[in-house]
Amino acid sequence: MEHRIRDLQEKSCSLETTPEEQRKINKAGTNFSENFYSSLQSQKAYQKHDSKTVQEILEESLSEEGEDINKVLGFVESKVLSRGLNPASGNHFGYIPGGGLFTSAAGDYIAAVTNRYAGVFFASPGAVAVENRLIQWMAEMIGYPKEAGGYLSSGGSMANLTAVHAAREKAGFKASDISNTVVYLSEQTHHCVERALKICGLSECKIRFVPLDQKFRMKTDELEKTINEDKSNGLNPWLIVASAGTTDLGAIDPLEEIGNIAHRQKIWYHVDAAYGGFFLLTEEGKEKLKGISMADSVVLDPHKGLFLPYGSGALVVKNVDHLIKAYHFEANYMQDAAAERSLYSPAEVSPELSKHFRGLRLWFPLKLHGIQAFRSALQEKLLLTRYAWEKLKEVEDIEVSPEPELTTFTFRWKPTWNLQNVDQVNRELHQSILEEGKVFLSTTQIKGKFWFRLTVLSVRTHLEETDRFLKILHRNMEKIESEMKQ
Ligand SMILES: *Cc1c(COP(=O)(O)O)cnc(C)c1O
Repeated sequence: MEHRIRDLQEKSCSLETTPEEQRKINKAGTNFSENFYSSLQSQKAYQKHDSKTVQEILEESLSEEGEDINKVLGFVESKVLSRGLNPASGNHFGYIPGGGLFTSAAGDYIAAVTNRYAGVFFASPGAVAVENRLIQWMAEMIGYPKEAGGYLSSGGSMANLTAVHAAREKAGFKASDISNTVVYLSEQTHHCVERALKICGLSECKIRFVPLDQKFRMKTDELEKTINEDKSNGLNPWLIVASAGTTDLGAIDPLEEIGNIAHRQKIWYHVDAAYGGFFLLTEEGKEKLKGISMADSVVLDPHKGLFLPYGSGALVVKNVDHLIKAYHFEANYMQDAAAERSLYSPAEVSPELSKHFRGLRLWFPLKLHGIQAFRSALQEKLLLTRYAWEKLKEVEDIEVSPEPELTTFTFRWKPTWNLQNVDQVNRELHQSILEEGKVFLSTTQIKGKFWFRLTVLSVRTHLEETDRFLKILHRNMEKIESEMKQ
């Protein structure tokens, strides 16, 4: 047996890398990232997928023998990364871009190399303390008391899901009560909230879509009226979800007024600030998000407002006990962990157990750049958005949505020469911009009509990129006009 073990050891040892091999891989990685960043401006912001490349990836052999790093990186570069959106590009104006900071990638690298077990305090008190510290920083930003706590998730959807379950546990209603339980959302609430309700087995709750005002914000008088009606009909109002920056339009629900209603009516108040939350770092954002501290729970997305690479969301709860009550579990094989504990652990406040040391990808950028850099970048994006909005508003046959609250707005082309087919003209304009691929912007439907959405939130979008976008838009409008008039 020993002989056989020795034999296997020899083979399995190739999983370990020698210092020379590590240096080679690091060097290839460094070369790759340097080339990547220095060529970003000339890289496309979007390129449609081609089925041939997808098929090649699906058929790529995973052979018994290992390959060289340069060959593997070459494949990733040419096949894996070449198509689709380029969210690292400053010319990405679609959905809600963030860009992705190199310093965050560096944090991920160290986290993975050292492989600390960030799920429980006993295993890595340092990692857990870092994550607690980051949550505390966000809690202070929101204006929460010291009882606040939370969880660094993989994104906003997971953070919202984690909150919905905690709110349900706090309310403590039974399965037989579900159909009498009421949730208050708006048509603009992110779809992940309804999905979270479904995942939690709560799809039979009554969902009230509170009517919106001209600026797509919840009408608070309607909200309270509906709650009172529901109460007098013997129903159980349980959860209000307000948006602090709707994904589509950046509209901010009246957070303070909704907070007053929620307190008066004793309803769990959740604010989905996945998009808008980090604007709290700016004076303007602080003013606009006033009242957010009244929420029982808040979701923020560092991979949006703090420009992190994808994989970072956050849930902050006013009283961390609600999270612990909802998620804490004990198990025989966890007895060492339970015995030694001075901070709450991610595993006690979320559905995760073994977990990546996610905190370091946020800790690195905050420590290395300092908070001021983030404040400036966020204020810059607010101004750039208003700049683009004003420029487009001046264009005679472009219709724009009301002045942007945050960094997103919608617009559409209404060419006087073809007012019968406005949607079609805009679709063609969008296709034409996508085919060129130099900038990317997404579209949406508002009241059944086709609109462009412009969002400025990539860390790499500056004045040059914004002007470039405007130029490309105009050039494509001229092109479509001459094609369609023929
Ligand atoms: C982006 C977004 C989400 C979803 O977050 P993910 O990080 O994409 O999972 C939820 N709510 C709002 C308001 C968002 O903008």
